Amino acid sequence: MAEKTLNPFKIAQQQLKEACDALGEDEAVYRLLSEPERVLEVTIPVKMDNGKVETFKGYRVQHNDAPGPVKGGIRFHQNVTEDEVKALATWMTFKCGVMGLPYGGAKGGIIVDPSELSIGELERLSRGYVRAIAPIIGERRDIPAPDVNTNGQTMAWMVDEYSHLRGVGQTLPAAFTGKPVEFGGCLARKEATGYGVALMAREAAKFRGLDIKDLKVAVQGFGNVGSYTAMYLQELGATVVAVSDVSCCLANQNGLDIKAIMAYAAKNKTISGFGGEAEELNRNDIFSQPCDVFAPCALENAVISENVDKIQAGIICEGANGPTTPEAEKVLLEKGVFIVPDILANAGGVTVSYFEWVQNLHNYYWNFNEVQEKQEIKMVDAFEKVINMMQEHHVDMRKAAYMLSIKSLAMPMKLRGWF
Ligand code: NAD
Repeated sequence: MAEKTLNPFKIAQQQLKEACDALGEDEAVYRLLSEPERVLEVTIPVKMDNGKVETFKGYRVQHNDAPGPVKGGIRFHQNVTEDEVKALATWMTFKCGVMGLPYGGAKGGIIVDPSELSIGELERLSRGYVRAIAPIIGERRDIPAPDVNTNGQTMAWMVDEYSHLRGVGQTLPAAFTGKPVEFGGCLARKEATGYGVALMAREAAKFRGLDIKDLKVAVQGFGNVGSYTAMYLQELGATVVAVSDVSCCLANQNGLDIKAIMAYAAKNKTISGFGGEAEELNRNDIFSQPCDVFAPCALENAVISENVDKIQAGIICEGANGPTTPEAEKVLLEKGVFIVPDILANAGGVTVSYFEWVQNLHNYYWNFNEVQEKQEIKMVDAFEKVINMMQEHHVDMRKAAYMLSIKSLAMPMKLRGWF
């Protein structure tokens, strides 16, 4: 099978199996974690602006609720498949486990190209999806959040619909996270994933005896995750020498002005044409830029056999989900590259979503700095625990992160009497 078309659910199961074997876990643990607990397929009727009714297929997958309620985003994309949602739900379980959050994993998706729908159609689709999955979600059962092509507005419609269905006159903001700050959202949530990637790159540098201030960084992807990763790495003192998006790569070995590029991208929806001191290259030139840290923050299967030899960085910090294929990872590990795996590196998003849920349940809100301080404490603590696991078992960091997570999941499953 071509590397790019590998089934992500099969990859997730393979990663789980290797980590269970390394831990010598009971066979039942692998069996309980290798398949989701619940897969719901729904058909959503939507009245379109032209008066006709269209139907859309959607999914909600709940992977494992042993540690607590399940949690995970909702993706609107034409390429959504049941197996993709199952893989993303599985990775959410491991991400929450690594961070020590009291959640299992879930994920949702609708097969739709949202760029073809009007705002009104998107709102009706979002509300229809909530009506379809309402029997299995809730603030103590399954708490969705945004993912690709969904955002705070989508969550606000969903909270409204869900509150009408379940609330009997109440508002139930804790049923969804990633909401706008003006409607129960959490300060520093928008910045959280990129901030976390930057913190993890700093810790990885420290672990290797380096100071992030002396390092050059390249960031692939300049969306929510990539742009804040670049911005916070620059704030930490690193020199960001290259960034890219779907249109091009901007490079300058003396450093780029990230805030200026962010302002340009916000206005123009692209980084192409930024000009200034930055040289504009092909987007795939990002892989060959001389740098010490490379942060893939675009999409899955970015670092593959065809480009892996171009990468010069000694540290890779995965902002995207699944950006490195197993084949490419093998090559990198043989070269001695240190990889901070996605389930740790990009866990800042779900960590601050957890803070949002806690604040909603208590109706008491923290300021921006309080949120970032709490995020840093949790992420640095998780980094140290993964490093300890890595050193104790002589494995790479990804396997160590899975092992830590599986250990934290096995205990509640055992205590509940599942095996
Ligand atoms: P986004 O849509 O905001 O940004 C994606 C960026 O990638 C865009 O700049 C796009 O132009 C760029 N891109 C797409 N194809 C590219 C290519 N071939 N080369 C270079 N750039 C390319 O999405 P996002 O929210 O930033 O998410 C990015 C990744 O991070 C996804 O894998 C997502 O699942 C993961 N992630 C996101 C969050 C979050 O809180 N947003 C949390 C955890 C993980």
